[in-house]
Amino acid sequence: MATTAPALPSAWRTPVVIIACGCLMAILTFGPRSVFGFFLQPMTQELGWGRDVFALAIAIQNLLWGAALPFAGAVADRYGSLFALSVGGVVYAAGLALMAYSSTPGMLHLSAGVLVGFGLAGASFTIVLASFGKLLPESMRTFAFGIGTAAGSFGQFLFSPLAVALLNSVGWRETLLIFAVVVLLVLPLSFAVSTPAMDMSVGATRKQSFRDALSSIHKDGRRKWVYARQPAGRYYRARTLVSLALLAFLVAAPFVSFRGQPLVLLNVLERRFVLLGLVFWPQDFHLVVLVALTAIVTLALSTATVGRVWCGWLCPQTVFMEMVFRRLEYWIDGSAERQVRRDASPWTAAAWGRAVFKQALFFAMSFAIANLFLAYVIGAGPLWTIVTDPPSRHLAGLVAITIFSLLFYGVFARFREQACTLACPYGRVMSSLIDRHTITVTYDAVRGEPRGRLSRDRAGAAPAGDCVDCARCVTVCPTGIDIRNGIQLECVNCTACMDACDAVMRQLDRPTGLIALTSHETVRTRRRSWLTVRVAAYAAVWAVLVAIVVVLLVRRRDVDVLILRQPGTLFATMEDGAVANFYTVQVLNRSARAHDLDYRVVAPAGARIVPLGPIGRVDAHGLIESRLLVQLPRQVLLAGATPLRLEVHAGGALLATIDSSFLGPAPPANTRLPAGSVNPEK
Ligand code: SF4
Ligand code: SF4
Repeated sequence: MATTAPALPSAWRTPVVIIACGCLMAILTFGPRSVFGFFLQPMTQELGWGRDVFALAIAIQNLLWGAALPFAGAVADRYGSLFALSVGGVVYAAGLALMAYSSTPGMLHLSAGVLVGFGLAGASFTIVLASFGKLLPESMRTFAFGIGTAAGSFGQFLFSPLAVALLNSVGWRETLLIFAVVVLLVLPLSFAVSTPAMDMSVGATRKQSFRDALSSIHKDGRRKWVYARQPAGRYYRARTLVSLALLAFLVAAPFVSFRGQPLVLLNVLERRFVLLGLVFWPQDFHLVVLVALTAIVTLALSTATVGRVWCGWLCPQTVFMEMVFRRLEYWIDGSAERQVRRDASPWTAAAWGRAVFKQALFFAMSFAIANLFLAYVIGAGPLWTIVTDPPSRHLAGLVAITIFSLLFYGVFARFREQACTLACPYGRVMSSLIDRHTITVTYDAVRGEPRGRLSRDRAGAAPAGDCVDCARCVTVCPTGIDIRNGIQLECVNCTACMDACDAVMRQLDRPTGLIALTSHETVRTRRRSWLTVRVAAYAAVWAVLVAIVVVLLVRRRDVDVLILRQPGTLFATMEDGAVANFYTVQVLNRSARAHDLDYRVVAPAGARIVPLGPIGRVDAHGLIESRLLVQLPRQVLLAGATPLRLEVHAGGALLATIDSSFLGPAPPANTRLPAGSVNPEK
């Protein structure tokens, strides 16, 4: 699909400059977008909106980001990547700036939803990846794709503390404006990764080989509909079982309770995640990032070792497409051959009835899937409330779920394999991780060639390969490619062609495995060779990451207590002469049981604690965010800040010891240091 000869960049655009600028762009574009959750609370509080207003904006953004990606790619091809990236950067920055001035839900939906969504698609890392592929020498592409993808994740890691610090110091509007300016840096960086517009002339497209063009698109740009035959064989049976298990887990995970929590919850709005009963709060952000990083390295390791096994066997897009929608289609429209005949026939009443029934069923399935994904975000309880309440109470939510249902319907009814070959950035990155040692679905050309039809070509005694050119492997392929052409970007490793070819070989009484899970190197040398230095390096990084995650999980405390002197406040003098300071209290309970909390000041002596909110009990998996007042007799105060030590107990056990400071007026002259006070100079 992509040309292999690198374009000729100007002298200053060395590979290092191209990779560094591409990585910076990934950081700058992924970063601000990934911290939108931090703006939920200040924006909804100040503007008096419900969470659903913010949620709909994020839904629109994600929808348009994904939907616009193929168009952004087409713009980059036609006008050059500099144009697509620059326009994307400007639109993205405009979205952030307008979001800062949003005063109505409509403005928020336009800015954070429409503009940021389109801007992300234009300035997205997918375009940068394509530029890497065109500008860099082949030997550096895998490295560049890997480091660029990691840079995107690092952007999320970097912008979280940055957003918190800015929100606390300058406020949410100013933070958004700062982010808008930061995103504009994409413009100068785009020059480093710019690629020229492609030659779209008829002559140029005629020269394309199968590696330069998508198999599912005609030369004139029209869609070539893929009528994939239903596979049959041991791999398809195994895939069916795996898919059933995955579907069962996918459907059950948000609804099944384990240790008082759903099996999986991905509440991105409140930044609260639950994985197999383990709850991750914003305070566990480092763990979430590490788990995400480990998942990425797991994918990289598995791809470098066993190819795109994720795409063909485990990805929800493939599972739903091949095991749900495609099977419904076989049930309603019949086999692939019958579908071809039906589509070529005139529209009769029966044909209309069948088409309407199929599309209605597809939309109903899409609606169910959209609700299922909503359950992953908001949880089963709130979803049930929304489903059983009158729709008028959740209009914004209803609009969002309808948009997502239409998106899923569009993907499964029309877009289909193009989600994997055109839209999915992970598919491209995964393809770049494969080399000649990777075990992947491979045609054994040494054994199969020269191919020839059985009846005529093999009549003589001329030596011939085992491939009888029956094209069964092509007709079952859901992406419409011919695996005999070698590894192709569009191959999702679904193994359907292996089943088809094995059946042919069995009919001919020849050994199966002409198309098999093996590596090109093994086909060439007949020796197994999958353990390369690269795979070993990935495995080492993976093992280190897993070890760190396990250690952090094991060492995680059940209850975290954070008590800080409230920033921006000084002290108050009470009627009895005591001096008071405000403190913020945050107690996070990760355990499955509630705790009654007892707060004590252990130094200096004579302190009183006055709760300013419900701080005495934290529920199971609960969070307290409140304040308390500490009052000290004036005579125990030291010059400047007086050190303060608090203890928090639960059920007689010490949960946390907190050292803080206490501000007050200068102590009266000749005051002796009371027992229990800690000298601030030490
Ligand atoms: S199914 Fe096997 S024999 Fe038939 S064309 Fe494909 S590789 Fe050749
Ligand atoms: S070439 Fe084979 S493994 Fe690859 S997508 Fe097509 S049928 Fe699946």
